[in-house]
Amino acid sequence: MRRLRNVKIVATLGPASSTYETIRALFEAGADVFRLNMSHGVHEDIAERHAIIRKIEADVGRPIGILADLQGPKLRVGTFANGAEDLEEGQAFRLDLTDAPGDSTRVTLPHREIFEALQPEASLLVNDGKIRLRVKDHGPEFANCVVEVGGTISDRKGVNVPDVVLPLAALSEKDKVDLEFACELGVDWLALSFVQRPEDVHEGRDLARGRAAIMSKIEKPAAVHSFDEILSASDAIMVARGDLGVECPIQNVPPMQKRMVRKCRAAAKPVIVATQMLESMIESPMPTRAEVSDVAAAIYEGADAVMLSAESAVGQYPNEAVATMNNVAIEVESDPTYRDVVDASRGGKKQSVADGIVSAAREIAETADIKVICCYSQSGSTASLVARERPHVPIIAMTSQVGTARRMSLTWGLHCVQTTEVDRFKTAVINSARASVAEGFATLEDYLVVTAGVPFGKSGTTNILRVAPCDEKKIIPADPE
Ligand code: ATP
Ligand code: MG
Ligand code: MG
Repeated sequence: MRRLRNVKIVATLGPASSTYETIRALFEAGADVFRLNMSHGVHEDIAERHAIIRKIEADVGRPIGILADLQGPKLRVGTFANGAEDLEEGQAFRLDLTDAPGDSTRVTLPHREIFEALQPEASLLVNDGKIRLRVKDHGPEFANCVVEVGGTISDRKGVNVPDVVLPLAALSEKDKVDLEFACELGVDWLALSFVQRPEDVHEGRDLARGRAAIMSKIEKPAAVHSFDEILSASDAIMVARGDLGVECPIQNVPPMQKRMVRKCRAAAKPVIVATQMLESMIESPMPTRAEVSDVAAAIYEGADAVMLSAESAVGQYPNEAVATMNNVAIEVESDPTYRDVVDASRGGKKQSVADGIVSAAREIAETADIKVICCYSQSGSTASLVARERPHVPIIAMTSQVGTARRMSLTWGLHCVQTTEVDRFKTAVINSARASVAEGFATLEDYLVVTAGVPFGKSGTTNILRVAPCDEKKIIPADPE
């Protein structure tokens, strides 16, 4: 089973995608990584979805990445007696600390600190800014608002208060509990929401204790300002355009996205472009032209992955949404302009032997008629360097670590294969040759490039490159080991 594109697809799971059949259908349509949003759904649901993904992984024989997204200090309304209410422009609407389920006149906003920090005339933006409320009067436990822009408000929708500085810690008590729970489940990635400083990332990493890799969601102006430091403290980045587009002027989002994607590639760290990519497909089997164009633009820019949120979590057409991303990706990646753009933006700091080896691997593969680059990578760092090269030929990341294979399923172009541990380079070459043919990348007549680090078992030692036949019988027995 191989994908016919390099960019990866992340699909958020939710009520529309919670059974074995629906999640498997998403995988088959093209989802490479599944996102479990800790803001919605109880631990039991999350654990169940996690188990289903691991079952699918075993059944299809491909590593699948799982990303647990921590809520972070995000303000959210409570729930509604009817699940949702329509708010009309001009009507009054009250937010308070009462426990009762919401109705068309009020809902709980379970954050005492926000009422204390509010000012009259402050605007409150609900659901990534789709609904706008203006504060008319407020006390320590309520705010009476008027609806300026109406719409449907439903359970646990997010609230932003861009005009007010709120004193919030990076990880709430709920986040710490969720983080421990997700790490114990065995997720591959932890996404930290509303990161503002590199210290926030360190805090998440300390709590994860190596059990999951750390992704920072960039959705605050402060995170954009400290982006370089946050990037170097993180293993990956998510351009979380939902909150970013509310917290910053919306027209600033596209240039920020472009800059961040470029910096992530230079740092050889995966970057996801997220939110509203195919928003209209929540309710329609066909996306808008603008949405298709947005997905395409992210791929042209060189993002590692594009993401679906509500489209796959609660939408009516989750499979169609994944299939749309898949089709757009195949089309963009076969466009000569895409190649030109990707080749022209190759760069980043190159200083190690590994940098030289991966760049040589790409050049050799592209110069001669080589079908695939196989790289042995324990931690995944060499595989990321190969991916940063954005070679024209496919990449197989060979690793004995299942966690690495799963984590790397987020990275551009990496087809991850879990292999047995090897101690000789020749065995690595033979395993690579077998994998290239078995996974459908080459035939016995073809050649491949193999990179590895000798001696084996030491991370970060890539120092060897070999061009070899894919037919293992032709790998001469007298070969250097
Ligand atoms: P974030 O800010 O972390 O992106 P979000 O609330 O925007 O959080 P998404 O995962 O982006 O959540 O999904 C978009 C919408 O889909 C949510 O607002 C929610 O209404 C719905 N949704 C997503 N996952 C679930 C779920 N597991 N259960 C119920 N609704 C969900
Ligand atoms: Mg969202
Ligand atoms: Mg968000």
